[in-house]
Amino acid sequence: MRILIANDDGYLAPGLGALVRAMEGLGEIDVVAPEQNASGTSNALTLTRPLTVFEARGEQVRGFRVVSGTPSDCVHVALTGLLGHRPDLVLSGINNGANMGDDTLYSGTVAAAMEGFLFGVPAIAFSQAEKGWANLDAAAAAARAIVEQVLAAMPLGGLPFLLNVNIPNRADAATLPRVVTRLGRRHASEPVIRQTSPRGETIYWIGPAGDAREAGEGTDFHAVASGRVSITPLQVDLTDHASRPDWAARLGGGA
Ligand code: MN
Repeated sequence: MRILIANDDGYLAPGLGALVRAMEGLGEIDVVAPEQNASGTSNALTLTRPLTVFEARGEQVRGFRVVSGTPSDCVHVALTGLLGHRPDLVLSGINNGANMGDDTLYSGTVAAAMEGFLFGVPAIAFSQAEKGWANLDAAAAAARAIVEQVLAAMPLGGLPFLLNVNIPNRADAATLPRVVTRLGRRHASEPVIRQTSPRGETIYWIGPAGDAREAGEGTDFHAVASGRVSITPLQVDLTDHASRPDWAARLGGGA
């Protein structure tokens, strides 16, 4: 089995190294990751400049291929020429912080996995629920256990799948119950933060994500808050199927 691993926090992020080490022995591993932290870049591809790739040399990152672009660039370039083969599985993460509810639309971690899925390769995105890497080794052990469980239940070669996994920052993460969830919803983001730059210009920092709004039983937020690992199967189709007939009746054109 060949596994491609990417992330969005950049190739030096502890979560990437932990995920790579946790998958040792499962198959042949290629790591292709962004040079910079590219959190929040969603599915962006870099189209206005070329991308460079270099091979990292540091002890923790030896052999990682580093791309001067986004998480989607990494997986896209890997699958369309850099690797020279088609991986059987794409993994992304482990992200520094949750990707639950609306986060999934902005997440580079989810996007890297989604890029694999768009190419027909099964893919799993992993995130730790809290930032700061507490209990990262336990999260990596949880990721390994989940990959093994998923592969046993869903042999490769069938239909591709896209799973979004959020892991509580706990020392017992690998043995916590796992639950299949749906995405919750967040409140709108906090207000933008306005500051004055050293040159006297008004500058703006995007504010933090809003708190969970729809976080009831069955959601990813609920699972993580109650000490379980959340596994959400994702799809890419954003069509609002339920409202299509209504729009067609109002605007014509059939449904
Ligand atoms: Mn990130």
